[in-house]
Amino acid sequence: MTSKRDYYDVLGVPRNAPEDEIRRAYRRKAMDYHPDRNKRPDAEQQFKEVNEAYHVLADAEKRTQYDRFGHAGVNGQAGGARGFDGYDGFGGFGDIFDSFFGDVSGRRRRGPQRGRDIEAKVVLPFEEAAFGTEREVEVNRIERCSQCNGSGTAPGSVPETCHTCRGMGQVRQSQHTVFGNFSQVAECPGCKGRGTNITHPCSNCHGHGTERRKRRIAVKIPAGVESGMQVRLSHEGDSSPNGGQAGNLYLSITVDAHEFFQREGDDLLYELPVSFTQAVLGTELEVPSLEGTENLKIPAGTQPTSRFRIRGKGIPHVNSGRRGDLLVSVKLEVPTSADAEQRKLLEELARLYSPAEEDVAGKQKGLFDKIKDVFD
Ligand SMILES: [Zn+2]
Ligand SMILES: [Zn+2]
Repeated sequence: MTSKRDYYDVLGVPRNAPEDEIRRAYRRKAMDYHPDRNKRPDAEQQFKEVNEAYHVLADAEKRTQYDRFGHAGVNGQAGGARGFDGYDGFGGFGDIFDSFFGDVSGRRRRGPQRGRDIEAKVVLPFEEAAFGTEREVEVNRIERCSQCNGSGTAPGSVPETCHTCRGMGQVRQSQHTVFGNFSQVAECPGCKGRGTNITHPCSNCHGHGTERRKRRIAVKIPAGVESGMQVRLSHEGDSSPNGGQAGNLYLSITVDAHEFFQREGDDLLYELPVSFTQAVLGTELEVPSLEGTENLKIPAGTQPTSRFRIRGKGIPHVNSGRRGDLLVSVKLEVPTSADAEQRKLLEELARLYSPAEEDVAGKQKGLFDKIKDVFD
């Protein structure tokens, strides 16, 4: 018997290496020497050696035996020569790791899958967004094949029960490995888990059971939507590939800007031009609203910072329908020039504002009325 290499040396780990370090070293070495990848003549021998070392060191009991008695301690135990010759029986390179390390994530369940969500964009004029509207949107979505009604088979033919799994969609795989015999349930490779196979595929969908179609869909858009909102239309998305529910259609809303109004939540903002005489003397002005006009009383002494609220003339809340307000802020307009007469009156007014004068208020009022006549 040729002298055997120390198992720790084979894996290149110290004698006190923890389990996960041994496992990592094994994966690395097994990959290096796997005969599928390494064509050197001694690779096969080294691969076996690595497997044998791991087989012993990964098992706490065997490792203890080995530590105490060396190779003699583990010889003749399970996983001897038979196992180490057995790699030919493994599948491809990926399989060996999947079966040894239990790639749990790789074992999916094949229940009905929900179709995918799709999106469409809608641009709305300001008023339509405020009061709700209807639209037709064009979508390009996956639907059940119109020719085979989703079965994927040509007319007159039916899917055949899979011979490999007898319609179960799953197979039990047993593997003889160096670590013993493993048995696991896997997706049937013959039918990809479906349980049936299509022998005569539908000419329209080539057996997929689905096709892509352009559709125009009428949609109701609720009052009060705003840019950035999404409206969901349940089950108007892609069809499920295997009999599950269709996905949703999401409408992404963009609302055009308005000529006069700005939106702040459910309130509308409007800037009302007010001349300085109107602000001083007070007046009543017409304010535009979404439905027409509103009359707004501008009290005497209105300031450039004044803001007025017209209740209930804003935008309906998208859920409750309760309307916001129309908020009117004053945009005080100061004349950019004055002719001779205007100038004379204004100078007179400026004199009246000097604190020495008596009965200023009454005179100012009279003068302002004059100025108003001249300016308006
Ligand atoms: Zn099958
Ligand atoms: Zn079809």
